[in-house]
This record gives sequence, structure tokens and C-alpha cells, in this order.
Amino acid sequence: MKPHSTVLTVAALTAASAFAQMSQPMVGENTTKISDHVWAIMGFPNIAVVVGSRATLVVDTGMGPKNGATAARVAAKLAPNNQKLFLTTTHFHPEHAAGEPGFPSSTILIRNTVQQREMEKHGQEMIDMFSKGSAQNKELLAGVVLRPPDVMFDQEARIDLGGVTARLIWFGEAHTKGDELTFVEPDRTLISGDVVQNRTIPMIFGDGGTPSTWLAVVEKVAGLNAAHILPDHSAPGDGSLVAAERDLILEIRTRALALKRQGMSADDAGKEVSAGLKAQHPDWPNTNADGFVKSVYADSQ
Ligand SMILES: [Zn+2]
Repeated sequence: MKPHSTVLTVAALTAASAFAQMSQPMVGENTTKISDHVWAIMGFPNIAVVVGSRATLVVDTGMGPKNGATAARVAAKLAPNNQKLFLTTTHFHPEHAAGEPGFPSSTILIRNTVQQREMEKHGQEMIDMFSKGSAQNKELLAGVVLRPPDVMFDQEARIDLGGVTARLIWFGEAHTKGDELTFVEPDRTLISGDVVQNRTIPMIFGDGGTPSTWLAVVEKVAGLNAAHILPDHSAPGDGSLVAAERDLILEIRTRALALKRQGMSADDAGKEVSAGLKAQHPDWPNTNADGFVKSVYADSQ
């Protein structure tokens, strides 16, 4: 067990510092309208605000309380008369969840039980890891205490915000074990976290899901028949992103398994698959599939 977990930690650290370099962790107050009841602060990560006639739901917090306070301010500005504010998180990673202390204390925090368990197990560890990524992260995350949610659910929770319903759904493990999806009705808008992204290579973090469980989740997502999709780390798009995600995962898996059958190492297969994706999608910001190819290798043992 020991050598394995050391390897994971090094890989995770590399990913975190790469992310820290790539990403500006301060979110702003500008919003983009996604659908009738859904707005987004586009940043690291994209934060969704779902507005009903009585209550507002924010999905994800930004990194640390300072960003959380910005998200809460934006929510209040979009719906100044709403008395109730709900907060949920797509997964337990710090830029998605560690801004919670910046929200008003009356905020109703809700998340699925698998995500909460995962946060209790790895939440502080991830905060420590992200804090090492940059001085700015360290400052943003200083003293953060992750509080337990007010409400937990297993598979699905429905929040009636007044004229609009947010369905919070756990379909299974993908990028993490506790990936949560928010489906907004009647807009048919899916706030998809890392599960469905746009022109982005999937990545399974630490002891998250597997390529097979991720595919199973995407199959269930297809059944929602979303019209609009807001991912957490890429541009919004229409419902076709779901099939594109499934095809991308299948494609990487098929190629990786063919190389595995030829006896190629996971490292070499990662390089080869990544090079193929880069040639195929020269306009994508990043086509490094090393991590996902390793996940495919591990999944097929
Ligand atoms: Zn994440």
C-alpha cells in the first residue's frame, strides 16, 4: 500500500501545481446567462447561480472564503428579494467547496453523502495540497474549516426555488466518488461539474471513480436530455456535450486497451494516446491523457 499511495501523492501534487499555474483563483462578479433561471460566474471554477422566485441556489464556492463571499454577493445581486440561499458543491475539491465559510451563516448547505464522506476523508489533505501550489492559494485557504452540511441525500434531492426546480443528483463515481450533478427544470440546464466537460480530457483524481463508472454515469446523464450544459472548468455548451464526453472516454479507452494488448507500458501508451489527441484536436487547450490512460490500464486488470 505504501509505495502506491506515495506515487498517488506525487502525481496529485504535480497536477495541483500545474493547475495552480494555469488558473487564476480569484472569481469576479460578472455573470453570463446560461438559461432562463441560471447564471454563471465564469472562472476557476465556473460557479452557477440558479434563481427562483423565492430562493436561490449556488453551485460551487470558488477557492476559499474570499471567493465564496463574492459568489454569495453575486447571488444576492441577482435576486435581492430572495430570503433563502442554498449552496451545493459539484465535488469536494478546494476550488469547489472550500469557499463555504465566505457565505452567510444562514446559507443551507446541501450535498450527497458520498461526497461528504469523501470530504471528511480527503478534504483537509486537498486543502493542504492546494495551499502548497502557490502563496496566493495558501492565503486564500488559510484557516478554512469545512463544516458539515445541513442536509444530505443519497441519490437525489429536489429543491423548489419558486417556479424552478433544482434536482441535485448523485449518479455514481467519475472524476471523484461524490460528483454531484444539478439539473434545473424547466430550463433543462445541467450543471455538470467535471463529469461532462467541453473539449477537455477527463481526469480521475486520487481514489475517485474508474473509466467504467464514469461511462455509466454519462449514460445516466444522457437520460436527462439536457439542453444546456455548464461544466466547471470549460465553456458552456448544448446537450451534445454529453454524447461528446461519452465518445471521448470510449475513444481513449479503446486506444489505450489496444496498446495494452500489444504489451505497451501505461506511460508509453499515455504519450501515444495524448499525441493522437493533440493531432486530432489542435485547438484544445490541453490534450494530455496520461492520467486517464493509466486509469484505463488499472481498470482493465
Ligand atoms: Zn476537481
